[in-house]
Amino acid sequence: MPELPEVETIVRQLVKVLPGRRVERAKILRKNIVHGSPARLVKAIEGTAIRSVTRRAKFIVVELESDRVWVTHLRMSGSYRVVPSGENGDALPVYTRATFDLEDGTQLLYVDPRTLGRLEIMPTVDWEARAAELGPEPLSPAFTTVVLERCLGASRQPLKTFLLDQKRIAGLGNIYAAEALWRARVSPRRQAKNVGPVRASRLHRAIVDVLSEAVGGSGTSLGSTYLNFADADGDPGEFYEALNVYDRENEPCPRCGEAIMRIVQAHRSTYYCPSCQR
Ligand SMILES: [Zn+2]
Repeated sequence: MPELPEVETIVRQLVKVLPGRRVERAKILRKNIVHGSPARLVKAIEGTAIRSVTRRAKFIVVELESDRVWVTHLRMSGSYRVVPSGENGDALPVYTRATFDLEDGTQLLYVDPRTLGRLEIMPTVDWEARAAELGPEPLSPAFTTVVLERCLGASRQPLKTFLLDQKRIAGLGNIYAAEALWRARVSPRRQAKNVGPVRASRLHRAIVDVLSEAVGGSGTSLGSTYLNFADADGDPGEFYEALNVYDRENEPCPRCGEAIMRIVQAHRSTYYCPSCQR
């Protein structure tokens, strides 16, 4: 569920805490959250200083001084929590799957109720090769209307499926793809190569706007249960109220009043207005 805005929210919080600090102790409490050997991940992280924390697509990328990167994909319900020094004597939050003790007493927790998220360690060069296969970052200058138009023209996929493909555009998921299409007044069922320059231009604007606004609102939490997104302070996102179609089946379209429809595309729910999205 966490998409670009939610991952970006967490990364911005981690940037304030991690770079320049050394991880003294790493503990994996649930082995299946590690891709590869948990012991190898612990060994790579312990005693190593953190150089930087960035986001690429929906990945959290922690660069270590050892020229290795610690990459996390949160998948459905993963999150990092920062526990400031002095507060870490308390019991761990339920669903804590890994703990990382920093040299200054700060504790970083990986929390994941469904344990579908993945932590992985790899040489920086390997990560760079993988990152190069991902599409452009939609909030970077590299993502232009022309780039989007060219990419759309080369695809026969339905537009919604196209937008979820991380090799086309990085970081979009089910929520923001639906919202961008609604804003652009384009049907999720339209074939990507038939979008055309006018719709492509509207879609480009809509993708940039919806993601920027959601980052500003610290992401979307769909409810208040433990399965929903929380940031590194444990707080929910504030963007849910701003959603126009996602999770709003049968509610009136805020633009034309027609009932919002839910269809299934590539095994995922798509919400859209059949009347004003063409
Ligand atoms: Zn409508």
